[in-house]
Amino acid sequence: MINSVTAAQAYHSCNKVENHTIIDVRTLEECARGTPKNAINIALENINQLAEQQLDKNHHYYFICQIGIRSKLACQQMLSLGFNNVYDVDNGFNEWQSQNLPTITPKTNQRDLRYSRHHKLSGFGRTAQKKLSSAHVVIIGAGGLGSPSALYLAAAGVGIITIVDDDLVQLSNLQRQILHTTKAIGSPKVESAKNQLSALNPDITINPINQKLNLENSEHLIRQADVIIDGTDNLSTRYIVNDTCVKYKKPLIYAAVYEYEAQISVFDLRTTNSPCLRCLFPQSDGFEPENCSTVGVLGVVPGFAGILQATEAIKIITKIGEPLTNKLLVCDLLDNSFRKIKYIPDNQCNHH
Ligand SMILES: [Zn+2]
Repeated sequence: MINSVTAAQAYHSCNKVENHTIIDVRTLEECARGTPKNAINIALENINQLAEQQLDKNHHYYFICQIGIRSKLACQQMLSLGFNNVYDVDNGFNEWQSQNLPTITPKTNQRDLRYSRHHKLSGFGRTAQKKLSSAHVVIIGAGGLGSPSALYLAAAGVGIITIVDDDLVQLSNLQRQILHTTKAIGSPKVESAKNQLSALNPDITINPINQKLNLENSEHLIRQADVIIDGTDNLSTRYIVNDTCVKYKKPLIYAAVYEYEAQISVFDLRTTNSPCLRCLFPQSDGFEPENCSTVGVLGVVPGFAGILQATEAIKIITKIGEPLTNKLLVCDLLDNSFRKIKYIPDNQCNHH
């Protein structure tokens, strides 16, 4: 026999008496849209497991769902577990709302929901998610590489993303730089980036730096980061980023694209004998390889490379998998040939 109460009765009892509590047994997704104020959210499927661990047989529990079906099932389960002080809230949250009883939209639930697929992922879970939320990634360049890496890192919940670029959005960027929209043409790329990334995930901090990375600002920008993503398109800036990462022992994620080909590598400069960009591509004075603006590039190619950069950043932050250290991954997207080329520190490189 299940004791039934009205929504108003449940509200008044739980408001007045210390050891009376409402339990909302709807899913996290439903509770995130609104749940009775001061209610605990335990989805019906978890009642059996959590009741024994977390609930107290001397306490009074009022079960609520949307219309009053799941709450009855919860009461039955509780009774069979030996909890006697349980009540079913008749007509559920529908009735609660129609009586204008107080509700809240719980923040923690929303965060849980946002990252629920990470939480469920074996080998990842809440532990890795926490590491992401306390990480700081600096992305140099809000262009073809920086666009997808910034979007995915923001979506993944990286706590602070600093994005450095001094360009304005141009029409010819939009074929590949998916952070920016047609409306943003003429505005600073970092401003457009901040708008898009904050809209995607308002719970993280986006730090837009409307400057070109140079010898003066590189130390200040890079020393505070946990991981640096090189999304630039010119070698001279790449060398500055590299040398600063060597100096401050930061992991640097490199990518470059050429027509239909992408190259990705990780210089994990936290380790003293890890090779750097100069070991892989020694500097020859004044040499600049051709970039997108001179030879063209298929729009998806930097997209692909940027996503791999984001993936490597997530792996490094959460310490999962095997990062692309000491290896250059070369991907020809025309025929899907992927090669991993091993390289070692260059004895001639004096940047270590
Ligand atoms: Zn080196």
